[in-house]
Formats: sequence, structure tokens, C-alpha cells
Amino acid sequence: MKRWFVWIAMAALMAVFCRPVTVETAGLSPLTVPARGEETKYIALTFDDGPRADTTGRLLDGLQERGAHATFFVIGEQVPENEALLKRMAAEGHQVGNHTFSHESLQNAAEHTIIEEIQKTEVLLEEILGEGEYWLRPPYGLVDNRIGPLVKTPMIYWSLDPEDWRLLNTDQVVAYVLGRVKNGDIILLHDFYPTSVDAALQIVDALQAEGYVFLTVEELFQQFGTQPQNGVLYASATEERNW
Ligand SMILES: [Zn+2]
Repeated sequence: MKRWFVWIAMAALMAVFCRPVTVETAGLSPLTVPARGEETKYIALTFDDGPRADTTGRLLDGLQERGAHATFFVIGEQVPENEALLKRMAAEGHQVGNHTFSHESLQNAAEHTIIEEIQKTEVLLEEILGEGEYWLRPPYGLVDNRIGPLVKTPMIYWSLDPEDWRLLNTDQVVAYVLGRVKNGDIILLHDFYPTSVDAALQIVDALQAEGYVFLTVEELFQQFGTQPQNGVLYASATEERNW
């Protein structure tokens, strides 16, 4: 075989096999998986305090373009008039979770308040998205010993928090995350702020190029073989958080 032919054949094979591939996931947003040869790492972006019409919609557009899944912990009070965004999240393969009804801290709250704050949002989510498990992110990440037994789902903390709500600066949020991120991280952001939406999409671009795949928290746990337990607070794919 002529040498030029071998080179052309090799180049064609490289072009086919060494680019990022998109995996179709039945009816959901396809996931972008890194090219062969890159070490695959998995990460979960989580967004609290939405949905908010102008910022969450733009974030969903950007995640869809990039084949990235995420998890949205929504506040019940934010749900009316944003039902279409919630349906879109679920339809595009994202996980929707519960961030209580009015974002009151559950730590030291009366027991009936804890139950009510969780249930009111759960009822809304079931009306819009159907029956399901809507995992809890406690407001401010604050819990106490009484809360675990009252919660009928896993609870999700985080392993990386750039304090995007305080910085309100895209470049600083991106730099914080890119400087510290590791395989299995759960990153806390807020889809409520335009700077955080910009930061999230830049983070996806930069980390996909390094071989990261963006999963929902539930998918991240499956990937790491973690069996989520109800009433337990998780900080990452492999770590629980004690209180
Ligand atoms: Zn919050």
C-alpha cells in the first residue's frame, strides 16, 4: 500500500474517532462525552433559587447547545408563571429538586414549618411534572439533627461554592471553579443572576475541553456507584456531610 494512502486513511480515522461525541439519551438533551483518549471526569452543576424567566431560559438554551445536564433546586414561590421552564428542564434531561417554598432556613425551625416548607414545593412540582422524587437542597445548606428523619428524599449540599451571589462577577466565578474543580464535584451556582449564567456556560466550555461530562446529581451518583439514602446530606458523589 502506498504511504500517502496510509496517511490519508489514518487522518480520516483520527477525524472520526478523536472528536467529542454526542450520545443520544431517549428524548432528552444529548450528553456530550469527551473524545477517546481523554480521561473522562464527571461533575454536577447545581442551580439554586430559580426559576427566573429571563436568566433560567438563557441558561437552558446554553446547556442544550453544549449537551450538558444540570440540577435545578427551585423555590416554590418562584414557580408560578415559570411552569414552562420547569417542564423544559425535565424534558431536556435536567434534574429538578426542592429548595423549599419560601427559602427559610430549616435549621432550628419548628417541625411543622420544616414539613410545610418542603411539602408545599413538592406538591407544586408533582402538579407540573408528575409524581417523582424531588431531592432537597436545604436553604443555605443548613440542617440539624431533627431534619434527616423528616425528609423522604436524599439531601444535596455541595463540594465547591464560588459564592457567585456575592461576587456577581463572571470572570471571578469562572476562575474560582476552574482553579479548584475535581472529578465528582457538586458545584453550587444560582441561575437567578445573569453573571452566574454566563459563568456556568464558560465553565462548561472550559471543562468539556478537559474531558469533563456534566451530569445531573442523580446521574453523578449512578456513575460513582453511590446509593442515595433518604435524609442523608451529600457533599459530592462520594462524600456525606455531617452536621
Ligand atoms: Zn438558596
